[in-house]
Amino acid sequence: NAGLGSWPERRLRISPERDAIWFEGTTTSHRTFAQRVRRTAGALAGLGVVAGDRVAWVSGNHPSALETLYACGQLGAIWVPVNARLTAPEAEYVLDHSGASVVVHGRDHGTVADALRDRLPGVRTWVAAEAPTAGGADSLPYEDLLAAADPELRDEPVGLDDPCLVMYTSGTTGRPKGAVLTHGNMTWACMSQVLGFDFAPQERTLAMAPLFHIGGLNGTVNPTLLRGGCAVVVRRFDAAEILEVVEQQRVNSFFAVPTMLDALSRDPGFRTRDLSSLRTIGAAGAPLPLSTLRTWLDRGVTVQQAYGMTESAPAGTALDSADAERKIGSAGKPQFFTDVRVVRPDGTEVEPGEIGEVVLQGPNIMAGYWREPERTAEVVVDGWYHSGDAATVDEEGYLYIRDRYKDMIISGGENVYPAEVESALRELPMVQEAAVIGVPDPRWGEVGLAVVVLAPGVPEDAEALLTALRARLAGFKMPRHVDFVQELPKTATGKIRKPDLRARYAPTEE
Ligand code: AMP
Ligand code: MG
Repeated sequence: NAGLGSWPERRLRISPERDAIWFEGTTTSHRTFAQRVRRTAGALAGLGVVAGDRVAWVSGNHPSALETLYACGQLGAIWVPVNARLTAPEAEYVLDHSGASVVVHGRDHGTVADALRDRLPGVRTWVAAEAPTAGGADSLPYEDLLAAADPELRDEPVGLDDPCLVMYTSGTTGRPKGAVLTHGNMTWACMSQVLGFDFAPQERTLAMAPLFHIGGLNGTVNPTLLRGGCAVVVRRFDAAEILEVVEQQRVNSFFAVPTMLDALSRDPGFRTRDLSSLRTIGAAGAPLPLSTLRTWLDRGVTVQQAYGMTESAPAGTALDSADAERKIGSAGKPQFFTDVRVVRPDGTEVEPGEIGEVVLQGPNIMAGYWREPERTAEVVVDGWYHSGDAATVDEEGYLYIRDRYKDMIISGGENVYPAEVESALRELPMVQEAAVIGVPDPRWGEVGLAVVVLAPGVPEDAEALLTALRARLAGFKMPRHVDFVQELPKTATGKIRKPDLRARYAPTEE
């Protein structure tokens, strides 16, 4: 077995006594972790799972994510993490499309299991990772299955080109696509992360971003386990609790999306907790406001902006920690095993400062979308994955992500990148969060509409806001409309759901 399923066994030979997982006050060694992975594989095999079968996992963060992932790897089965926030019909699509035969669900998904049990005859067995808070009475208890399982190692012939998991992308556009990541994709992405973020053998990383997303899973957690360190698993994002865990568990690293870094820095614990153990934070997934970066750097914590996606598992580019201040705002350079280019529509590389599309190639790029050859062919051309992201490179080759091409606004013939306008808005003390979308305009074709969440206690005054913004933005980039809201629609990784906003503000037919 050359895949992920062999990692716990390899670690067992080297340093079995080191910490592997911490969860709600209990620490598990790499020895115990390896034993539990074997039993999980035995339990799944007992449920009839064989090589190539799909095993879904839907839950808030919990050690069962890692146990089922590595156990699938031992059997040659394919792990399908499902976004815990999906409604029953949305989860049904993913479970049905992936063809999962076993679903392991978290304590909060008993009612989802009940709602889908009869609708998904292809799912033979529903397993409850923990006693459900509601419903789920017919799901088999995970711990009982493990206790009864065969503890012997199953050594299936799994190769690096075999699928390891199918991860459905967060779906800011269209119906979700399942990126097939092979054992090789996962291995090389983890190696790039280990190198790019200087993981130490005794690393303690925080698993706080969702494990059903690639940043949460492979940003720091799998690389840490590969290195022989410990994943400190927290169920959900709670800023005060997370800062406490960082202090008490002496956490060295974590992956976060920008909104999480914002929320953490606004919590009182950000000033009072001892954060001295933190070596680095990897931040990616959405544009990172400069003000957020500065807040963390001023607190003495290195934040390495990175850029990547589900399809690259997610190694794309990363800013070296030594450049964190000097190249603030850049997503850095290609990660070790990934080639990254910014190209024109004809495929030639752009000049410094010129905007183009980011394309990526390497052993970490997905095998394709599960059962969707046409959608795969749309994005993987001559071996290069076309990201749909607009970016520039500077004279030294550092990458700057501008925006999604699809989100670009064309106003009076000028390209306006909402991410840039949002970042300028976010720099204003009166603004907590903002999203900018294009709306039709008789004169300019399209103009920007800023949807703004104000900082607490700030009165709603569009004129004051635009006046402050005008000092920072060229006229053609200025939003022409402002709407104040209490909250922005977001995906589980904290990305603003632009299609939802567009639908909300869509002009009604005359
Ligand atoms: P996903 O499809 O959910 O894996 O998200 C990947 C997408 O997130 C990329 O294609 C980008 O649009 C966006 N993204 C990731 N990292 C960054 C970053 N550092 N800055 C701006 N956008 C990013
Ligand atoms: Mg995507």
